Formats: sequence, C-alpha cells, structure tokens
Amino acid sequence: MKAKILAFDVETAPSIGYHWGRFDQRIPQAMIIQEGSLLCWCARWVDDSDNMYHDSVWNYGSDMRNDLEVAQTLAEIIEEADFVVAHNAKFDTGWLTRSLIKSNLAPPRMPRVIDTLKIARSSFKMPSNRLGDLAHFLGLTAKEDPGGFQTWRDILEAKGAVQKRAQERMLHYCMTDVDVLVEVYERIKPYWKSHPNLGAFSDSPVCSICQSSDVVSNGYYRSNAGKYARYKCTSCGNQSIRGKQNLISTETRKSQLVGVT
Ligand SMILES: [Zn+2]
Repeated sequence: MKAKILAFDVETAPSIGYHWGRFDQRIPQAMIIQEGSLLCWCARWVDDSDNMYHDSVWNYGSDMRNDLEVAQTLAEIIEEADFVVAHNAKFDTGWLTRSLIKSNLAPPRMPRVIDTLKIARSSFKMPSNRLGDLAHFLGLTAKEDPGGFQTWRDILEAKGAVQKRAQERMLHYCMTDVDVLVEVYERIKPYWKSHPNLGAFSDSPVCSICQSSDVVSNGYYRSNAGKYARYKCTSCGNQSIRGKQNLISTETRKSQLVGVT
C-alpha cells in the first residue's frame, strides 16, 4: 500500500491595527482592528501532479475574513493523509488550528508531519533554508513572485477586475509553492535519517523512504549487538535501509563479550 503523503501550503491575510512606530513595536490588543486570517490553501498528493485548492473567502465579499470554511476543508483533506509535508509546518498547521479553535471546533486528526525546513536544517549546511533559496540552490523550479504586498492589498481592498487578478495571482503563487515544496522534498528526503519508515506500509521489501521495490544488497549494518543486511534504493538513493533480522544467531550472541561503560 502506498502511503498517502500530502504537501500543502496556506496563504494568510495580515492583521490591521494602529501603531506609532515602524521598528520593534509591541501592539496591544486595544490597537488591533482586525486579526489576520486564512486566505486560501493549496495542496497536492506527492505522487500526483494535480493541485487542489480552496479559496472560499474570496466569494464572501465583505466577510472575507471568515476563514472557517478554508480551515475546515483543509482539516478534512489532512485527515485523509498518512503524512503531511510542509515547509516550516508549524506556521501552516498553527494557522489552521487557530481558525478551528476560534470556532470552538475539535482539533483535526493530525498525521505525522514532515517538515522540509527541519530536514534542511538537520541534514545540510545550506546557504539558506528558505524554500525558494533551497529550490534555487538545488536547481529546481523557481518560486513564483507574489507581486509584493500590493497583491495582498488588492485582494483585501480592491474591487472587480483588479481584485480578481490579485486573487488569481495569489492562488497561482500558492500552487507553485506546493509544486516547489514537493520538488524540494523529493530531492532532500534520501538524506534525512529520521524519515518515517514507509516500509511498514508494504508487505514486501521496499525502500523505507520512497517505497520502491528497487532495493539492492549494500553490505551490513552493525549495531552493538547485531549484524543486519543493509540495502540501497536505486530509485531515490536512500542507503539507510536494513533488514530487521539479526544475522548473529542467538547461540553466538550468548557467547559474545561486550565492553563495559
Ligand atoms: Zn527509495
């Protein structure tokens, strides 16, 4: 069985409030006019090229800040997934859960999260760990230019064709972000030692990261008390795969000596 891995991204509208200065401001509740909200989400199953999205707030006109339907539809699709992939996932999941709890709804059944920012930070010394910079360094698809803050202003304040154009630009930006996210994830995942074991989804021997059956013998993995067959995936390059069976017999292990710490 193939694991269902969902890559997703959310776009948000900023808060509106009063402020006196430009730098290092602390803005108390009394100076807030409008809290930030979700604008849309885009997502893609990593094994499928079709993008999915939800942007209902743009049909609400004056009530564009009501993001509950955006949050609920995102929660529904996330609950279908075995894993979700996001870059700086806490941002995206945090905006989702804040919208849900604001409406006094139960939390979604969250699958395990694969955060490409954490993978990049823990596995490499990249020039920059921003998603677009990672894609640039790796020679992948470039992130879309959202058009600066004017796009957000046009979505929130403009009317008619100008607003519609800004909404479409934002949606396209979000979709491209998800495509870039999937490309970055696919490229860096074989380097991540802590990737969830997808081998557990299959009844036959497959790669623990990409579930390909194209695995070849690759020497042995030795722990303090064991010797295990090691494999390499010729599909994604993952070399961190080993069999579960200890090749040192119980009888031999009984006679072995170990160091004392
Ligand atoms: Zn693989």
